[in-house]
Parts: sequence; structure tokens; C-alpha cells
Amino acid sequence: MKKEVLGISFDDLTREEAAQAGAALLEEDRFHYVVTPNPEFILAAERDGEFRRVLNEADLVLADGIGVVYSAKIQGTPLKGRVPGIEFAADMLACLNERGGRLYLLGAKPGVAEEAGRRLVERYPGIILCGTQDGYFRDEEAVLLKVAAARPDLLFVCLGAPKQEKWMARWGKHTGARMAIGLGGVLDVFAGKVERAPETWQKLGLEWAYRLKKEPQRAGRMVRLPLVLVKAAGKRMKRRGRSAGGAAL
Ligand code: UDP
Repeated sequence: MKKEVLGISFDDLTREEAAQAGAALLEEDRFHYVVTPNPEFILAAERDGEFRRVLNEADLVLADGIGVVYSAKIQGTPLKGRVPGIEFAADMLACLNERGGRLYLLGAKPGVAEEAGRRLVERYPGIILCGTQDGYFRDEEAVLLKVAAARPDLLFVCLGAPKQEKWMARWGKHTGARMAIGLGGVLDVFAGKVERAPETWQKLGLEWAYRLKKEPQRAGRMVRLPLVLVKAAGKRMKRRGRSAGGAAL
């Protein structure tokens, strides 16, 4: 079931349900793409119609940030919970491992995708790492040809938003992959370059705070994020006002 949060239609799924839905998509012999919006995406999509369309047309739209879950609740359309992109990615890797599928890693700084790939194959020995490419390229089409030649089943696209989502929507179906997932900085984590927040912080919904502590240069980017909560509150008040008006009629 889809639930709209500030213009983006999210799939209302638990992590387990998302993993099941993802596994079913991996079984189908056609291209699918998955997006993992956080509050930064929501704010960017307000000003970028193409980004909004690409997000809403994805096969799975997973609520990556706790800010999305809070906004949904404030807005009066609660979601079951958050499905962090990195956890969905791990679930898809486990699936691919079982079927001996092919993985391609696209994105991050030179050398990072290779290191992430080396570590992932160690952890999931059934997976065939069929290629890697850093995310600082000019010629999108040349990269597409390189990815397609590697014949991946699963493709991680880690170019930051909205570049990764637009790349998947534009080129994804020509890669021959069954699934592409837009995963931001996840290759940096898989490569051991960036540490994910400890579980206690994750459980408290404070992953964003841990990230800010580790990467204080993100403060500029993050300062606008509470805006989504304010916007969600505004939306709820508007809806309440409308239904109170309706009741008076
Ligand atoms: N990146 C890239 N190409 C670009 C811009 C960014 O490959 O042109 C990579 C960057 O190196 C990083 C990831 O995309 O690995 C984006 O990370 P960010 O922290 O912005 O994403 P988040 O995890 O917040 O979604």
C-alpha cells in the first residue's frame, strides 16, 4: 500500500516486507528500480519536478530516514517504520547470494567500489562481482555500455541524489539488470571508509545525529531538514481545517 508524504508516494512496508517485495522483483526477468528517499530528497523533489516524477515512478519507494517516518506520523498518515537503504541492500545481497547472481557496483570515489566489492564477495561468496565503476564520470552513455556488457542482475547506483535516481530512470532498463537501487553513500560504508552509527543510536532514531558528529561538514546540508516536519504539520492542519469545514456544511 502506498502512502503519500509531502508529495512522495512511499511503500508502507516493514523491513521484512520490503525484503520479500524486493526478492519477488529480483525473480522477474525485467528491469526495476528502487529508491530510498530521506527528508533531503523530499525537499529537493519539491523544487525539481523531474526528480519527484522519477521517485514516484520507482518500483519500490522505501522510507530511508527517521525524518520521513516522523513526517508521516505528524501528517496523520503513519508508516509502519523505516527501511534503511543499507539494510534493504543487505537483504538483496543475501537473495543474490542464494541464486548465485551477478552484482555491479557503480559510484563513489575511485577505488571505493572495488574495495566494497572485495569485502562483499568475502561475505557473500555465492555472488559474482561482475564489475565496478567510480561515480565521477562525464559520459553517461559510455558508463551504461560498460555496465550492460557486464550483464548484472543487481546494480547498486551510488552517485548521490538526485543524480543516481535520474541515472536509473534514464538508463536502467538498458543495463539488462533486474534491479537497480539508489544507495547514496552506501559503498563508502561497505568499503569500510565510513562507519555506520552503532545500533543503539540507530534504535533511538539518531543515525542522522551520529553522522553529523562524524561528518560535521554535513551541517550546512542538514540545517533545512526540520523543515519537513514543519511542512508535515502544516499539511495536517490544512487537512483538519478542511474536514472541520466539511463537517460544518
Ligand atoms: N558521488 C559520486 N558521484 C558524484 C557525486 C557523489 O559517486 O558525482 C558519491 C559520493 O562519493 C558518495 C555518494 O555518491 O559516495 C553520495 O554520498 P552522500 O553522502 O551524498 O549520500 P547519502 O548517503 O547522504 O545519500
